[in-house]
Amino acid sequence: MPYLVREHLFIGNIGDAAEVLQNGSNDITHILSVLSSASISFFTEWRSGLSIPTKEIRKVYVGGAESEDVSGNGSKSSLSPDKLLYSLEYAGKDLKFVRMAVPMRDMESEDLLDYLDVCLDFIEDSRKEGSVLVHCFAGVSRSAAIITAYLMKSEQLSLDDAIESLRQSCESVCPNDGFLEQLKMFEEMGFKVDRASPIYKRFRLKVLGDSYNRGEKIDGSKFGADPGLPAEILSSFVEASTDKEPPRTPAYRCKKCRRLVALQENVLDHVPGEGETCFEWHKRRSRNSFSRSDDEECSSIFIEPLRWMTTVEEGGLEGKLLCAHCEARLGYFNWSGIQCSCGSWITPAFQLHKSRVDISTI
Ligand SMILES: [Zn+2]
Ligand SMILES: [Zn+2]
Repeated sequence: MPYLVREHLFIGNIGDAAEVLQNGSNDITHILSVLSSASISFFTEWRSGLSIPTKEIRKVYVGGAESEDVSGNGSKSSLSPDKLLYSLEYAGKDLKFVRMAVPMRDMESEDLLDYLDVCLDFIEDSRKEGSVLVHCFAGVSRSAAIITAYLMKSEQLSLDDAIESLRQSCESVCPNDGFLEQLKMFEEMGFKVDRASPIYKRFRLKVLGDSYNRGEKIDGSKFGADPGLPAEILSSFVEASTDKEPPRTPAYRCKKCRRLVALQENVLDHVPGEGETCFEWHKRRSRNSFSRSDDEECSSIFIEPLRWMTTVEEGGLEGKLLCAHCEARLGYFNWSGIQCSCGSWITPAFQLHKSRVDISTI
């Protein structure tokens, strides 16, 4: 039996969803499926003998390959551009249900944040039209994480309060640790997924670093948009600017050929002289404060990995960062960290030497 969380909002497992889709429901009109596959065949593979009719409404890919770019700016999402964001269909008995299916695995490394916007909007809209069942396989981690985020946003609750409140309805809920970490960030970003915020960027970098440490292939499509490519920079303008005034943002260009290599928004600031790192367990002691002068300027800037950094994709622990146009050496990267001239350790580090780039506004 699905558990009632709020008026018109239920949480359940795959059995609950199958029951509703197969036999109909007096309450539920909408279903949000969060399973490792968005296809309805997940149900029939789970239990043979089930037959659930569907009629597609639309499929939306990251980057808006369908028609609408629901993820905000697809090029900035960490998800690959050809990856399914969600599918929407009529499903179940008499095709009476509207089912949104989001492909998500119950793994700590899974990107919960990138799916939150569409899931929370679906829940909100569904509750206006009827009642929604949010389910995953066990009804414990993925569905609980999404409902927790929904309660946080709609009722302005802290993560702890939202989970506590959800447990009043369904005792067994327990989002995995990776989801909890992302929900904490969701709280710190003000109950929204702000891809421009340093919190999100550091998280993105940590995910990439974890993936590197596990020996996985580096997926360059997860890097930030290349500001040197006109199409990508255009879309970041659209996102950054809500008024008609063209924004003037500081930008970094290759000193030799003037190609754009980074925008201010790609920079990950650090406090000079302090151990700033995405990896707590890599934290190192910075230089003693007396060994540097207070106004010593950092000789490097550190940025998020961007799509022009092809040498990073080759998979090494460290290497040069070369200008995509003239191949001048702009800096260095190292997954286990680089020490800035101010004493700070940046981990992982994607470093541009200030002496190799020019700063201008665009
Ligand atoms: Zn520094
Ligand atoms: Zn160049």
